[in-house]
Amino acid sequence: QAILEIDRITKVYGTKLNPVRVLEDISFSIDQGEFVGIMGPSGAGKTTLLNLISTIDRPTTGKILINQTDVTRMREKKLTTFRREQLGFIFQDFNLLESLNVKDNILLPLALERIRYQEMMERVTYVTKILGIEHLLDKAIVDISIGQKQRVAAARALITQPKLILADEPTGSLDSKSATELLQYLTAVNQQEQATILMVTHDAFTASYCQRILFIKDGAIFSEIVRQGTRKEFFQKI
Ligand code: ADP
Ligand code: ADP
Repeated sequence: QAILEIDRITKVYGTKLNPVRVLEDISFSIDQGEFVGIMGPSGAGKTTLLNLISTIDRPTTGKILINQTDVTRMREKKLTTFRREQLGFIFQDFNLLESLNVKDNILLPLALERIRYQEMMERVTYVTKILGIEHLLDKAIVDISIGQKQRVAAARALITQPKLILADEPTGSLDSKSATELLQYLTAVNQQEQATILMVTHDAFTASYCQRILFIKDGAIFSEIVRQGTRKEFFQKI
């Protein structure tokens, strides 16, 4: 079942006299439980596309359906709730609050939900176990490593049990060891939780953890590779 359907979207910046066409007639869909990467050269439109799917920007034409709902027609106020309930975000620079400890950062997205404390703590225990950070709950953000920070950010994205997790260069600030660990944890989250992950990256090693890669270039999704076999074979293909 499709959790995300992109239907012939275009995005044009600039003015009528001087239009900058960034995305041209892009269509694709992502099924529940997939781990999909978006790659492409700098300026190709990856961030633009992610912003449209995040519902923080709207396409010039075309439709975006998330969990069967057309978000391109939704009003701003409804979108705020929709984002909170259906989407999880993992950013390159974590966006953690240093005034809160690890546990409270993870719980932050639930602040507006009506969920029993016990249920919250059960979720915290569960997601932090998958991400290997259950021993860090009482720590201050300044006292954990960069790799741990990104896993805390991932836990915060997961705590609302989002239908779709959007990650923008999640390994961008990490050394290769921390990056590998994060990707292994994200893979576990994807497999154990049936969580759908859409990840933008320009890094082939990071992308090699995805089941499917969408390439974007000159405004179009120009090819699609399903990873089969080993990571080494994947590297030879791209
Ligand atoms: P990527 O993330 O793949 O590097 P972007 O989506 O950031 O690409 O940018 C794609 C193109 O759109 C670039 O040519 C960029 O200059 C242009 N662009 C992005 N945002 C805007 C904007 N707000 N106004 C005008 N042009 C923009
Ligand atoms: P990234 O590739 O890391 O996503 P950005 O999204 O910040 O980087 O920018 C990508 C490209 O889009 C850059 O070339 C930048 O100059 C251009 N860009 C971003 N925002 C705008 C904007 N508001 N107007 C014009 N160009 C923009």
